[in-house]
Amino acid sequence: MRALAILGGTFDPVHLGHLRVAWEAATALDAELDLMPASVPPHRPQPVASTAQRVAILEAALRGQSRIGLDLRELARSGPSWTIDTLIELRGEIGPRRPLVLLVGADAWAGLAGWHRWRELFDHAHIGVLTRGGVQAVEPEALAVEVAPRRTTDRAAIAAAPAGCVIDIAVSALEISATRIRALLAAGEEPRWLVPDALLADPALLAPYRRVEG
Ligand code: ATP
Repeated sequence: MRALAILGGTFDPVHLGHLRVAWEAATALDAELDLMPASVPPHRPQPVASTAQRVAILEAALRGQSRIGLDLRELARSGPSWTIDTLIELRGEIGPRRPLVLLVGADAWAGLAGWHRWRELFDHAHIGVLTRGGVQAVEPEALAVEVAPRRTTDRAAIAAAPAGCVIDIAVSALEISATRIRALLAAGEEPRWLVPDALLADPALLAPYRRVEG
């Protein structure tokens, strides 16, 4: 059964770094992939664009292809959004057999042991660790020891089980960040070829990040 992979993020705004990584991971796993924009807890700095604006940007970026979709469930939830809750909910929807892969950046992976109910994540999903440019993720020793039995390098192992494995997925290291795109737009510059052309074709889409002329 084709795996479902999810990639979470703030996507403020989505850029070609995200999209290329999503595409490569989906291809590597032969999976369908959903981007899952996160709502930001009230005590953390809020995204520059509103939820509706971030969704409009994501929809424009993804238009014209069907491999990468959008899952908006975390935006609809009020209160904190724990990954474990998201995975339990998704597992309930896709049934017990379909492989589900939670994609995380290498930095997030290194901090996994701090996540709410982190050991239970493996009951519901595999974890795909996105490693950029062939650089091996720095992994705390205790985490490495604990997840060692779950480690696989075999993509067939992911397709063969619904959950429970950890696999590294090598992806392109594109030096693009949402922070840089926001800075360019705030400076009145155009982030051409850092974001999909569709985002520049409609001036309203990136307007939330542009400097307001006073
Ligand atoms: P910001 O600059 O605002 O911190 P960001 O560009 O890092 O944002 P996020 O929404 O925080 O974007 O990222 C979502 C996910 O995408 C994270 O797992 C992050 O590691 C990954 N990611 C972001 N940029 C890239 C990139 N250029 N290449 C590969 N992965 C990326």
